[in-house]
Amino acid sequence: MLFSRLPELRAAQAPDAPCVADAASGLSNSEFHSKVLVAAGVFAENGVGPGDVVAVMLPNQVEFVVAMFAAWRLGAAVTPINPGLTATEATHQIADSGAKLLINTDGAAVMAGVPSLPAATLHGAAPHAGQPVDDAAALALLIYTSGTTGLPKGVMLDHANLEAMAAMSRQALRITKEDHCLLVLPLFHVNGIVASILTPLSAGGRVTIRARFDIETFFPDVERLRPTYFSAVPTIYALLNALPGHVRPDTSSLRYGICGAAPAPAELLANFEARYGFPLIEGYGLSEGTCASTINPLDGVRKAGTVGLPFAGQRIAIADAGGRLLAAGETGEVLVRGPNVMRGYLGKPEETSKTIVDGWLRTGDLGRVDADGYLSIVGRLKEMIIRGGENIYPKEIEDALTAFPGVLEAAVIGAPHETLGEIVVAYVAFRPGRGATPEVLNEHCAARLTRYKRPAAIHVMASLPKNPVGKIDKLKLRAMPRGA
Ligand code: ATP
Repeated sequence: MLFSRLPELRAAQAPDAPCVADAASGLSNSEFHSKVLVAAGVFAENGVGPGDVVAVMLPNQVEFVVAMFAAWRLGAAVTPINPGLTATEATHQIADSGAKLLINTDGAAVMAGVPSLPAATLHGAAPHAGQPVDDAAALALLIYTSGTTGLPKGVMLDHANLEAMAAMSRQALRITKEDHCLLVLPLFHVNGIVASILTPLSAGGRVTIRARFDIETFFPDVERLRPTYFSAVPTIYALLNALPGHVRPDTSSLRYGICGAAPAPAELLANFEARYGFPLIEGYGLSEGTCASTINPLDGVRKAGTVGLPFAGQRIAIADAGGRLLAAGETGEVLVRGPNVMRGYLGKPEETSKTIVDGWLRTGDLGRVDADGYLSIVGRLKEMIIRGGENIYPKEIEDALTAFPGVLEAAVIGAPHETLGEIVVAYVAFRPGRGATPEVLNEHCAARLTRYKRPAAIHVMASLPKNPVGKIDKLKLRAMPRGA
């Protein structure tokens, strides 16, 4: 089943069943389908057709999902843009993607030559009368990498990629029409779209969209809406863990929470599960692999400190710098293979051929696979620090620091150094009411890490800077004055 037909199918099968809701409205399947037809009519009037790209720069709201399915019905692709970007920042993505039309909140023009429409106009045209375009090879999403390690590149995902990923997620997470996802991650990221929209909707389930994660309303929403699952990032779990001890929400509707997108200390997941009484399923993936490549099994052993096993239909391998495949237990670059691997980077054939080699996607992450096939992520090749010839992976030092009582999160970067090349610099944020001096943290590191891995400086901050997806923004940390 192609996503271009999904709204129509759902409307035919269960017209009155709930489909998508946000704070402003809740749509049944037939209401959702009608809105998609009208939005497709607006797009068609504006000249959008097969092979075109529509830029959607909207906050998390029902209209985002309507616009996405409307574009797909016409055989067009969507490039989601973070609505928090300034006009200048958005210009790179709009220009690079070759978007034909921009949908944003107020219809403000962002760049000469690309017409923009406010989301409100998606309500006002004659419904699209044509048939949905059925083309598995059609471009569906152009996701721009968040740029934590360089200039954003457009990751091309086609309908076959999305179908395969949604099917693998439905199977691994056992998603059915009984499922109700509470979406708190941004929709301009592949995790939000795939794990929280396409997976439940293609199973006949439903989704409730929140504008963003809000620590005040998250558990009250869980109690009121009774969702069956949600997907979140480690920072969110750390914040929920730091809620005062008297907060004891009713989480009985939740089957699990999915955790991914960034390293999660095993201790954080264990403390969370013990406190809130539902499991966290840790997975791993990247935009270039349509969201997810491994996940801990629902039944069977969930190994703490690992990101689980490949989804059925995907393969994982570990390679050395020369591309030679390594044995279990050996550390090297994580390679991914399967129907979820992107078609390439838009307009960048050279980058694409460096990233997809003989059908294997080079993830740029370092990891190892144990004898049972579970993957552990050790660090990122791009983040590796070389201090006096020794290779250091920030994650190992971050894990040591987050094990210190009261630490909310930690980030480690390499700073230039005259003789050593690079030195290790750490940034730490504590939970409210907790703290320690850099000296005490240093002693803690000394007990756990060999000398060359210990931070040369530890900076304690009120909170660490985040990118819009909720990951710690190491570019910002690198730009900070070292004495800070
Ligand atoms: P850019 O490619 O521009 O640097 P990005 O890395 O944030 O941006 P995404 O595709 O959003 O791009 O994120 C994928 C990366 O997130 C992975 O390559 C990996 O480094 C990290 N990641 C995802 N899940 C996990 C996890 N469970 N544990 C550790 N790291 C993870």
